[in-house]
Amino acid sequence: MRTAVRLANRAGRAVLVSSDLSSTVDVQTASGGLFGPSTRDVYDHWVEFIEWFKVAGNSFDAMSEAFVPGDFGPPAPEPRQVFAIGLNYQDHADEANLTYPEVPPTFTKWVGSFAGPESSLNLPTTTVDWEAELVVVIGKRADQVAPESAWSHVAGLTVGQDFSERTLQLTGPAPQFSLGKSYTGFAPQGPWLTTVDELKDPDDLAIECRINGEIVQKSSTARLIFSVPQLIAHLSSVVPLLPGDVIFTGTPAGVGGARKPPKFLSDGDVVETSIAGLGHIRQTCTTAR
Ligand code: ZN
Repeated sequence: MRTAVRLANRAGRAVLVSSDLSSTVDVQTASGGLFGPSTRDVYDHWVEFIEWFKVAGNSFDAMSEAFVPGDFGPPAPEPRQVFAIGLNYQDHADEANLTYPEVPPTFTKWVGSFAGPESSLNLPTTTVDWEAELVVVIGKRADQVAPESAWSHVAGLTVGQDFSERTLQLTGPAPQFSLGKSYTGFAPQGPWLTTVDELKDPDDLAIECRINGEIVQKSSTARLIFSVPQLIAHLSSVVPLLPGDVIFTGTPAGVGGARKPPKFLSDGDVVETSIAGLGHIRQTCTTAR
């Protein structure tokens, strides 16, 4: 029995995850070729896909296959555009000694940095930091969208990490946010995309990051300075958001660079990031190339 859509990406193919999180079905097979095989095709036909799911969603349990999250890649692996927002929690702006932004500070994480929910993170330097983030995937093109209707353009939500190489990020007269946050493996996401209909309040989700079991970040997306609807309204006032596009929404307080003294990731560290109702992802740090 499926109540919400949980869409994952296994080896480039779109799969649906069962409500008890124990099995998957291949979207192309289950839909008789209507959707898939890629998640990109599913997002490109999102409205029709959801209509199909409402009718067919409980009829294909017999096709189920077992899985482990380590099989999955990021749920939206081929976005045309990736947006990432800085300073979007007041407590994080406070720890960075920066004033609250009047418009969302926006950069990108290039798709080459994407990784799945269980991955290894090669540390290119000794100043790599963690940033637990809610990630939004667009389902329906959004152009000049008002906040009141923004959620209807969202396919769903997933868990992400905006790993950040602080030295490159902050180098130069114009800081290099996009490049410093796009090293290989710096944008893990997953374990799957969850549609918002199952969440009691999609604007209030507990978010947490642990390193080697110790809680380093703990907050709620209710504390975002710019909420998901406000971000979609702002971004879509500038550029249309396209199906499958990805938005990293910013991180709460507790990053390593703001500590005194600063603390960064080292070889063997295990970073676990979780969001209530969406699941968790896990990255293991390594310095071996
Ligand atoms: Zn971030």
